[in-house]
Amino acid sequence: MNRARSLLPQYFSILKEHQSARYLACKHRPVTFRTSQPTEHLWVLHQNALQSTQVQNTIPEQSLLDLKIELAHRLYTECCLCEHRCGVDRTRTTGVCGVQEPRIASEFLHFGEEEPLVPSYTVFFSGCTFQCVFCQNWDISQHHPGVTVEPARLGKVIEQRKRQGARNVNWVGGDPTSNLLYILQVLRETEVNLPQVWNSNMYCSVETMHLLQGVIDVYLTDFKYGNDACAERLSKVKRYLEVVQRNHLLAASDAEVIIRHLVMPNHGACCSQPLLHWIHQNMPGAAVNIMGQYHPRYHADEYEDIAQPVSKEQYYKIRVYADTLGLCLL
Ligand code: SF4
Repeated sequence: MNRARSLLPQYFSILKEHQSARYLACKHRPVTFRTSQPTEHLWVLHQNALQSTQVQNTIPEQSLLDLKIELAHRLYTECCLCEHRCGVDRTRTTGVCGVQEPRIASEFLHFGEEEPLVPSYTVFFSGCTFQCVFCQNWDISQHHPGVTVEPARLGKVIEQRKRQGARNVNWVGGDPTSNLLYILQVLRETEVNLPQVWNSNMYCSVETMHLLQGVIDVYLTDFKYGNDACAERLSKVKRYLEVVQRNHLLAASDAEVIIRHLVMPNHGACCSQPLLHWIHQNMPGAAVNIMGQYHPRYHADEYEDIAQPVSKEQYYKIRVYADTLGLCLL
C-alpha cells in the first residue's frame, strides 16, 4: 500500500479529506456563458475556466461543470464522444456503441479492484465503444440491458454508498465514454467528497478528454494492444495506438493514472512488450497493473491465438519484462 500512496498522492489526500475531489472545484468555479453562443466560443471559455483558480463557497449561478454539460450535450447530439465519431443524434438513435440513453446494468460496492481503490462504488453501464471478441462482460457490453436512473437519484445513491464505505466512484461498463453527458449531470446532483475514477478503454475523442479534465481524479485505463492490426482484428477499432497513446498522455497531464494490461496468450511480442516499452518511455511514473486472468470467452474460440487461457509462463514473462523496464507495478 505504501507504493500506491507514493504513486497516487492526490487520491489518498482526498480520502483523508485533506483536499476535495476535483469535480467539486468545477461546480464551484463561476463561468458565464449563453447556450446561444457558438461551440468554438464555449471551448475557449472552457479552456480559460480550467486555468482559473477562482472557487466560490456557494454554487454559482453558472459553473464550469454547467459549461462542461452544455459542451457534452453538443457532442451527444452529433456524437463524437469517442473516436468512432459516428455523428449521430443520440437523442434519436445509436451509433457503433449501441448506446442511446444511458442504462445502468449494475452498481455496487466492488471489492475486486486494485487494493487502493476498494471498496469502490462501481457503476456498470451497458454498451461499449469496443467489440472485443473475447469480452468477459459481453452480456452487458455488446447488448443494452439495464435501467435508466435519473441523475438526481444516482447522486443520492453515491452519498449513500460513501456512508457505506465507498472510497471512490468508479465509472465503467462496457465503457463509460458513451455516457459522459449523464455522468456530468449526476455530478451536478451531488456534493460528496469522493474521488472520481474513469475506468475506460481510452478510445475517447479528444473533446471527451478535454471535458474530463479537472473532473477525474484517477484514470484507470485498459491498455490492450501494442499495434493497430491486433486492435482491429480483436476489438474492431481503427487507429488504436494513435488514439489510446494520445489519451494516456492527456490523462497523465491531468490527473493520476493506473494502467491495466491484460496479458493475452500469444500476444507478448506484438502487444504486451511494445506497449509496456511505450509506457516506460512516455509515462514512467504511472502505476501499472499487469493482469493474468485472461480466459477465452464470447467468440474467443473462433480465434486460434486467443482460444486458450494465458499460461503462467506467458504471464510471468511479461511481468519480468515490465520489472526489467523499471515500471511501477502494483
Ligand atoms: S459514443 Fe462513440 S460509438 Fe457511441 S455513438 Fe458516440 S461516437 Fe459512436
